[in-house]
Amino acid sequence: MSDRLSALNLDVVPASRVEADGALWALAHAKAGPRLVILAPATASRVLEGFEGETTGVAEGAVLVGPASTKNAAALRGRLEWLRPRPLGTRTSAGLGDRLGLATPGHVRAVRAVGGVAAIAPIFPQQSIREMTRTGRTPIEVMDDATWGMFAEGWKDGTGADADHLKTTADIDACLAVGFSMFTIDPGEHVDSAADAADAATLRARTAALPWADLADSEAAMRRRYLGQSVAVEHLTIAFDEVTLLRAAVKYGRAVAHVARMARHLRQAAGPRLVELEVSVDETETPTSPAEHYWVANELNRLEVEWVSLAPRFVGRFEKGVDYIGDLGELEKDIAAHAALARHFGPYKLSLHSGSDKFTVYPIAARLAQGLVHLKTAGTSYLEALRTVAAVDPVFFRAIYAFARERYDTDKASYHVSAELAKAPAAADVPEGDLPGLLEQFDAREILHVTFGSVLKEVAPDGTLRFKDTLFGLLRSNPEAYADNLERHFVKHLQPFVKAR
Ligand SMILES: [Zn+2]
Repeated sequence: MSDRLSALNLDVVPASRVEADGALWALAHAKAGPRLVILAPATASRVLEGFEGETTGVAEGAVLVGPASTKNAAALRGRLEWLRPRPLGTRTSAGLGDRLGLATPGHVRAVRAVGGVAAIAPIFPQQSIREMTRTGRTPIEVMDDATWGMFAEGWKDGTGADADHLKTTADIDACLAVGFSMFTIDPGEHVDSAADAADAATLRARTAALPWADLADSEAAMRRRYLGQSVAVEHLTIAFDEVTLLRAAVKYGRAVAHVARMARHLRQAAGPRLVELEVSVDETETPTSPAEHYWVANELNRLEVEWVSLAPRFVGRFEKGVDYIGDLGELEKDIAAHAALARHFGPYKLSLHSGSDKFTVYPIAARLAQGLVHLKTAGTSYLEALRTVAAVDPVFFRAIYAFARERYDTDKASYHVSAELAKAPAAADVPEGDLPGLLEQFDAREILHVTFGSVLKEVAPDGTLRFKDTLFGLLRSNPEAYADNLERHFVKHLQPFVKAR
């Protein structure tokens, strides 16, 4: 079949060629964009069912050349089982979110460079509903872009697919329908961070007002279960006096009820399909104490929720696209406690959200979690796209940066960032050769990070998209440069987790 493929005069991506089901499958470059190529001998012609494109029948069998369309992506996932997302369980894993949809080839190369799926189980399709809204993408587009990226690289070792930060049952339905396998439930809106500073009388009043029916519980029963109890969890002693208990219940009670509701919905909607669930409270105001983690896990257990990973809100600051801000010694104690609790109740994985660029945290988290860890990244791949653009078209990059500075004060609202405009160089002041260096400057990095949605949506006076099409064009015409940048950047993220085991 290989000879026939070369006889077709297509610009086939060598890494993409794979034999399966008696047919030969590959991706080819063409002027009109990437093309799916399938060579199916007469004995295997049934594999072409469900695909669209031009089919030419020849004596030796059929050749289909078709677009990289949604229909063909779905048909590919149907035929090539390794492209079909599946639950990863408690294996060490990393989520490689991709806001533009062109990063998966670089992500695949980084995973391969650190030892492949035996070293770290990847999640290529991953996006939160918030970022889908910001980038104007839909769950199926996120899924398809990752499918084509894996296919182009000949990745046959499987993937998870993380529907991130879901807040409603409608979010679950939308992502379930297109094949996501991991559902990250974010009950952040139901977390009452004010409980941290509330006095005993306030806590008692708020406890009485909890949705006890939703929790299948009563205040008296909860008090009996916890008060006066002291539990040893590895090196920790978790003890509940009244204030500790009520604070945990007030802070996380409604969140627990919400997660249980979402988990029930997911179980029902998924039916026999295998899916997994993550609980994330990382995007809340105040840290999750060990006693609070204990209470949340214990209550979710009682409500028969099953989860594979949990993202607490750690101490210090996990800001987007930059290293950890805070006392590493304090963080180490905090991670040790949360990791012990995750082993005690699961075992489940500790999930590190806003996990990109936390280079000082990785060795600590890897050692303490003992492999039970999930690293979640997203926006940092957009920054690598900008690094690529800065090298190939500095003038265009300067325009993006200038625009990002204008947008920053508005766009930062829904992110945890602390960059200050005054500390980031003005666009006009940066010599051309120093432009890529902006991606190493703390303030410029955060400014570029949180403004991606505005950059992608900005419309020029003539009605065209001011940046988006040029940005995509540059990345599409320099795929190797982008993949190289991603590979180099992500090897640094993944290696500490591989070494630790
Ligand atoms: Zn998060």
